[in-house]
Amino acid sequence: MNASATQPISAQNVADTFATVFGYPPDGVWVAPGRVNLIGEHTDYNDGFVLPFAIDREATVAVRLRADQTARLISSYGDKKMVEVDISTLSHGTMTGWTAYPLGVVWVLAQMGVEVGGFDLYLHSTVPSGAGLSSSAAIECAVSTALNDLYGAQFSPKELVLIGQRTENEVVGAPTGILDQSASLLASDGHAVFLDCRTRESHLVPLDLSGAALRILVVDTKVTHAHATGGYAERRASCELGAQMLDVPSLRELTAAQLPEAALRLDAVTYRRVRHIVTENQRVLDTVVVLDDAGPTAIGALLTASHSSMRDDFEISCAELDLAVATALENGALGARMTGGGFGGCAIALIPEAEELKVRDAVDRAFAKANWQAPDFFTVSPGPGARRIL
Ligand code: ADP
Ligand code: MG
Repeated sequence: MNASATQPISAQNVADTFATVFGYPPDGVWVAPGRVNLIGEHTDYNDGFVLPFAIDREATVAVRLRADQTARLISSYGDKKMVEVDISTLSHGTMTGWTAYPLGVVWVLAQMGVEVGGFDLYLHSTVPSGAGLSSSAAIECAVSTALNDLYGAQFSPKELVLIGQRTENEVVGAPTGILDQSASLLASDGHAVFLDCRTRESHLVPLDLSGAALRILVVDTKVTHAHATGGYAERRASCELGAQMLDVPSLRELTAAQLPEAALRLDAVTYRRVRHIVTENQRVLDTVVVLDDAGPTAIGALLTASHSSMRDDFEISCAELDLAVATALENGALGARMTGGGFGGCAIALIPEAEELKVRDAVDRAFAKANWQAPDFFTVSPGPGARRIL
């Protein structure tokens, strides 16, 4: 196994590695992508709108069913040790480390009444782990797409979204919504996925970056501030309190026209949290309209307004993210914003292709001047969703 993680690799190459490891060829090869959320932050748990797109970095799995109940799993990343388990005895204690993602999917399928059987699985992922691009959902979605085919379970992509979410919530213990898996499973090349988190309805929105000579640059600040988990829980609680005080089932029900009245009924901090959610939902809707009418060149101001709202109203940005955003904007980005939960992690910048190096260089220099560790950069483009490739 000589492929280093994040290096692109062909389906045949993954199948060949599987054959070298296990001594026979796989039944097939499946992929599922990571994602970037273009706009719509912290709106998911408020029943609101999000607009992610699948990226051209994917988890690839080669799988072969076995006649017994044994699962053998190996990844090209990390310690590269084979994990072997009896899937008829899966429990929270046996689904640990990275195998919690693939085995969690098997466990959820079994809970749903699917007759699961043993398999051999080789994983190679080009989605950087823990960088906010959802490497975990990519694994879940690649595995659920593969096993759905091999077990003949016939779940729809939308049902697979919920299977991935249950894996995160019930097996891994991450209280996530359906954003990541929806992007990974429902995406299409050159499109973003508009998702209504209340109704779970979704539709594709054209996002033709290359046609407009644009790039989306992800700046991974590589910082996670200590209050990230507490801050996330605290923001969720603020949103719930705001909805309760305004007598609505969720903040999704509010529009900008109701904000002046909300200001009179809420304390100043809760009001600002509410205002972020209300204005962010509207920015997602506006982004969809602008993408349809004028194309991606015109969405920059909405991205930047989203960042200001997260910095000033929701207060989930940090110095590193603010510097990345400001420096990108000063050096030719059309728009930029932090993306993800906040308190660290990644920012995205919408950049004309010709300006990419200038922006990278400027952000690098700004971080060096601040005496911070150098950020990582990824250029991503909207790619297709989960599928069989061999
Ligand atoms: P994110 O989904 O934002 O990348 P998570 O913490 O949710 O971050 O998921 C990262 C975890 O996913 C890793 O700790 C590891 O368990 C698993 N993972 C990601 N990439 C791989 C890989 N190539 N091989 C094995 N496990 C991986
Ligand atoms: Mg994850």
